[in-house]
Amino acid sequence: MEAVYNFNAGPSALPKEVLERAQQELTNFSNTGMSVMELSHRSKEYEAVHQEAIDHLKELLNIPDNYQILLLQGGASLQFAMIPLQFLIEGKIGNYIITGSWSEKAIKEAKLIGETFIGGSAKENQFRSIPDIQSLQYNENDAYVHLTSNNTIFGTQWHEFPTITHAPLIADMSSDILSRSLNVDQFGIIYAGAQKNLGPSGVTVAIVREDLLEADVSHVPTMLQYKTHSNANSLYNTPPSFSIYVLNQVLRWVKEQGGVEILEKRNVAKAKLIYDAIDESNGFYRGHAEEARSNMNITFNLPSEEHNKAFLAEAKELGFVGLNGHRSVGGCRASTYNAVPVEACEKLRDFMKSFQEKS
Ligand SMILES: *Cc1c(COP(=O)(O)O)cnc(C)c1O
Repeated sequence: MEAVYNFNAGPSALPKEVLERAQQELTNFSNTGMSVMELSHRSKEYEAVHQEAIDHLKELLNIPDNYQILLLQGGASLQFAMIPLQFLIEGKIGNYIITGSWSEKAIKEAKLIGETFIGGSAKENQFRSIPDIQSLQYNENDAYVHLTSNNTIFGTQWHEFPTITHAPLIADMSSDILSRSLNVDQFGIIYAGAQKNLGPSGVTVAIVREDLLEADVSHVPTMLQYKTHSNANSLYNTPPSFSIYVLNQVLRWVKEQGGVEILEKRNVAKAKLIYDAIDESNGFYRGHAEEARSNMNITFNLPSEEHNKAFLAEAKELGFVGLNGHRSVGGCRASTYNAVPVEACEKLRDFMKSFQEKS
């Protein structure tokens, strides 16, 4: 088996060390003679893993004490519904900043539940940028303001977040959580499906400011209340224990790497290798994003559809995986999440240069 360079958008690369560790422990976890998958979720061995994952998140993201860290299921997509279900009550408005397909999916769910408003949108320019923070519009009775911190499909990213005080700011950080340092204080809720930067699919992290747990949710099904999970330390029902175990291993790995600030520097450098190849190509490679370019998902096109096809076919031959753009936008996309090594980005840069030279 030849080495592969995994640029998948999600599920995506996991650190090799994490996979090897999981393999070593697969049939005998912590001297139990069983796999972590086979343990009771009420056992002390599993509870230790569960708590360690929560503690690592708190430490790595500098999460203040007045936030609860929840380990949920249903993906980021279920959060699209859980948020309006709890907070979008009569007389309140769900304010959405639309910066790509995931924001559109989020507001679609809110519309099923209550009144919504678009406080800013980048749709007119095909999501090539992020709205200017100064241009965002708010309402006095906003239940919350929702944004998508990184636009996985179009390749843009908020590099600075609005500071708002009239309502909680809620962010879908599925594709850039843990890739850069954050000021959690700025947010009421942060949520993320794990399968991009945090671990395998199956677990969704929600970081919820405690005052938001006091909302009246008597109309909401038990499993869809944040309170249910916060009261039970995310052990109300059976958690996705193997996913949480791998999440914990990924968090350990991040600590071993030196933490989020170190990864942030590395991620910026990784993305720059590829953006430089685009910017130095005299227009052969054209980035989709014009401003607010993402350090996680780099989207670009070649001069023609034939060029795109040839590029992707040759890349595949050489062991590059997942470089095709999302089915809704086409072209090419390189996802350079935390676990993608610098070397993979250097190889891609080299391939982009050589492909251009002989085209
Ligand atoms: C992948 C992704 C989602 C969807 O996540 P699921 O866990 O599959 O529901 C939502 N938002 C963003 C920004 C994403 O990148």
